[in-house]
Amino acid sequence: MSMLPSLFVSHGAPTLPFDDCPARDFLKGLGAQFERPKAILVLSTHWDTDEAELNTVATNTTIHDFHGFPADLYRVRYDAPGAPQLAADASALLARAGIKSNLDAERGLDHGAWVPLMLMYPQADIPVIQLSVQTAQGAAHHIALGRAIAPLREAGVLVIGSGGFVHNLRQLDWHGSGAAEPVWSAAFGEWVHNALVDGRENDLADYRRLAPEATRAHPTEEHFMPLLAAYGAGGLGTKATRLHRSVTFGSLRMDAYAFS
Ligand code: ZN
Repeated sequence: MSMLPSLFVSHGAPTLPFDDCPARDFLKGLGAQFERPKAILVLSTHWDTDEAELNTVATNTTIHDFHGFPADLYRVRYDAPGAPQLAADASALLARAGIKSNLDAERGLDHGAWVPLMLMYPQADIPVIQLSVQTAQGAAHHIALGRAIAPLREAGVLVIGSGGFVHNLRQLDWHGSGAAEPVWSAAFGEWVHNALVDGRENDLADYRRLAPEATRAHPTEEHFMPLLAAYGAGGLGTKATRLHRSVTFGSLRMDAYAFS
């Protein structure tokens, strides 16, 4: 089996699986682009903790961690098997890199994990674990976090960072008037894309200061951290490939990348 890349995907709104948009169609076809993974590790924005946490359940429950959406969305299930041994292996790799982690024996999958997974692998038959983000620890920490678990890819594990490429809910146009993507969003996206492709790791770690419009693109940083972790999980000297670029709700960028 050839080594799987690590992936970054933008999960968008919880309704994405039911929204007719390019990002939904892209994710539907994404699983078929790679060999079937033995297991999947998802870093999701929506599990944000002080220290790294990994879930160790035998079977995942589906967490509906959002409010005010249509009732049907709360009936969606993605109860994929867990992978407690993979959680232990990931924890050991993190320890080797000097990153403390804790195991959570109860938590299932939040929508940052199940929204992309139900599109990529609708059968829910591949074992999945989640790794939390630690937004308060910043960008460089997440590159190191991803790099620590990069060896899992050699064992057929698909590492996915699930967040948002540009994510400012206050700037969204929920009614989709069809206006062009705003200049600030495009400028930030262009900077990040070039930094990824050029492998400018130090710049990425300092994106908050260096990237144009960083605080407008990400008023809070949690949706950006999975991208940095996925970049790190590509390993030293990783090559970044943009797999998808689109915008929903005016400025919510839905880009996706592979790192290998
Ligand atoms: Zn989100």
